[in-house]
Amino acid sequence: MTEKSGLPDIKSMLPDELSAALAALGEPPFRAKQVFKWLNAPVSSFEEMTNLPKSLREKLRERFTLYTPAVEQKQVSRLDGTVKYLWRLHDGSHVESVVMRYEHGNTVCVSSEVGCPMGCAFCASTIGGKVRNLSASEILDQVMYAQADSGLKISNIVLMGIGEPLDNFDNVIRFLRLVNDPDGMNIGMRHISLSTCGLVEKIDKLAGLGLQLTLSVSLHAPDDETRSKIMPVNRAYNVDTLLAACRRYFEKTGRRISFEYAMIRDVNDTPFHAALLAEKLAGTGSHVNLIPLNEVPESNLHPSAPETMRRFIETLERKNINVTVRRKLGPDIEASCGQLRRERERK
Ligand code: SAH
Repeated sequence: MTEKSGLPDIKSMLPDELSAALAALGEPPFRAKQVFKWLNAPVSSFEEMTNLPKSLREKLRERFTLYTPAVEQKQVSRLDGTVKYLWRLHDGSHVESVVMRYEHGNTVCVSSEVGCPMGCAFCASTIGGKVRNLSASEILDQVMYAQADSGLKISNIVLMGIGEPLDNFDNVIRFLRLVNDPDGMNIGMRHISLSTCGLVEKIDKLAGLGLQLTLSVSLHAPDDETRSKIMPVNRAYNVDTLLAACRRYFEKTGRRISFEYAMIRDVNDTPFHAALLAEKLAGTGSHVNLIPLNEVPESNLHPSAPETMRRFIETLERKNINVTVRRKLGPDIEASCGQLRRERERK
């Protein structure tokens, strides 16, 4: 939580930490709540916290850092109103967020790391590797500033942007506690989804916290041979190990897992894959979200044909597996995460 300047990042502090810090400065208890509320509003300096005494604003400025992201690039889809942001952070790093407009409310997709260490073959976010973790405040800012800039009230969050959220476990949990706080953005855990490529120990650790969020697991193949080819993480935790962790997660939290499956032509979309996927998920009540692969110029993987997808879905449905196909939002603005940042790095 301590930044380069040596001063703690105040927006990443939990309410009880903030209370302790302000008490140490000799401030009365109600101040902590006031400050916390300001930290959850899009203000870029302590100066703007106008209901705090000037002397306190001064003290805060000397003892803490307060960062805010800048909009480096913004794209608005003319087709469906999807808004995509490329943010520039205080150290010059870039991450992306996307605001999607659904009937059940506006959803923001946020990044959890600068780059990604996981190396999935089909993903733009991992091409340059991982640069660093995002702090809790840098994840929170994506929600706060996307809402402020777009004017769209955010009611749902998906941690499906750049990075592997469970690889940045502590900061991500801290972010969840902040964004869920009634004095903060107050977004309910049931309105939050976290997507992981399948870090088994971290899935167990998350289960132990008993949060009511939705866990999505990027499965993308039901067999080790295929999955290890496209997802290096499978060599550490194979399909059956991962599915066992998913069962434990459900038993512990009562929350059903949702599986993501990007359809890649001739790689994971054959009748063999459909049948094995149905067999492995049978009776779990899990949900499968099929995503037509988004082409990434650096890879030579391609999306499955619509007819192949249709047959794949039929096989799953015959075995009573619940399937949906992710609607493609913002097709005119490269709204798949990692692509804007990637384009910038290429320049
Ligand atoms: N690291 C996390 C979250 C980020 S990716 C995870 O792996 O789940 C969010 C989802 O988009 C994941 O399911 C990921 O596998 C998928 N994805 C990545 N690149 C994609 C692409 N080119 N086309 C379709 N889905 C993709």
